Amino acid sequence: MKETETRGKRETGTAKPADTQRALLNVLEDLGAARDKERAEFTRTKVVIETMGSALVTLSPLGVPELANIEAKNIFGWQKGLPTRSLIAQDPFGAVIDLCGMNSDKNCETSYAAGGRQYKTVGRSILIDGRINGYVLVLTDITREKELDRLKTEFVSVTSHQLRTPLSAIKWIIELMLHEGAGPLTAEQKEFLTQASDSNERMIALIADLLNISRIEAGRLALSPVEVDLSVLTGHVLREFLEKIKEKKLALSTRFSKEARPVVADPKYLHQVLSNLISNAVKYTRPGGRITIAVRSEKGEVVWSISDTGMGIPRAQQDRVFQKFFRGDNVIREETEGTGLGLYVAKSLTEAMGGRIWFTSTEGKGTAFFFALPSKMASKK
Ligand code: ADP
Repeated sequence: MKETETRGKRETGTAKPADTQRALLNVLEDLGAARDKERAEFTRTKVVIETMGSALVTLSPLGVPELANIEAKNIFGWQKGLPTRSLIAQDPFGAVIDLCGMNSDKNCETSYAAGGRQYKTVGRSILIDGRINGYVLVLTDITREKELDRLKTEFVSVTSHQLRTPLSAIKWIIELMLHEGAGPLTAEQKEFLTQASDSNERMIALIADLLNISRIEAGRLALSPVEVDLSVLTGHVLREFLEKIKEKKLALSTRFSKEARPVVADPKYLHQVLSNLISNAVKYTRPGGRITIAVRSEKGEVVWSISDTGMGIPRAQQDRVFQKFFRGDNVIREETEGTGLGLYVAKSLTEAMGGRIWFTSTEGKGTAFFFALPSKMASKK
């Protein structure tokens, strides 16, 4: 029956033998081309994997290594062959898979150290039609970057230390002269010396921030916590800004809650946090504005608030406020002085002391920064 039909078709001229043959040849040619393309693709991928400079490993869904380039073989000692057991519970594979979750098709990152070297490890699940087909891990050697970073931090630390001594000397000399310890001054001379003193104070504050950053980044923030009297410390910091507050005709109110318990913190770092926040409130509030500083106890914490009626922080930029070097567009336009380091330092120090820091702000209306430290429990008598 089939035979007759086919012949019948041929006879009607729809598929001559020559056409069928050509069609078959075409199909074979297409298959050959597809195979060549696949081979070229495979070779290209292999060359990319071997020359990428980072180590690459792919794992089966059960965590057994399927492919590893030379760098990976060197890191894991697989020169004689890939292991045939699952590595799912072994670092760095376990750490990455735990971190990413089994079914995520997003890159996730962790770090891994072995053989005296440090690696950035990026992992990802291979999902095909929503089903897990395996995992890929790429390890990049970042030992040198880390070392350079360490050297940079050390350079900043040493330079800042060296700069601190002459700046303090300048400070005391200017102070002495302003108090006419070296003879009477004209009003103009006083004005010039005051300007010199302001610039010197800015340099001192910048050096303090740089020093703290190098300590934070080197993990060398040595805290010496003691019980701190909040009103004394806050008053002490405020005194440094009274001159500027008067000059800018800012109204200042302070509210210290009587119930505020002491905190156990490093007074030097606490001073720095408060100083950075008060300095911003003064700097970013226009003449005639108001600054309010309050300290209260709340649910086992002591909370400071430093609020102002100043320029505020643009809403669209608020999620970047604590990043290093962040400066709001609105303040860059108006207030040229600033480094964008103060809040980064304040946040790092607060967190190092076991506290937290946050803010609310409306552009054009004002800003309130808050920071909280665990309060000292009522002492047993
Ligand atoms: P700097 O003041 O040196 O620029 P900071 O890290 O202390 O650096 O502050 C970062 C940025 O956050 C500031 O440049 C400013 O845009 C914004 N900012 C901080 N505090 C205030 C504030 N009280 N009012 C308005 N903007 C503020």
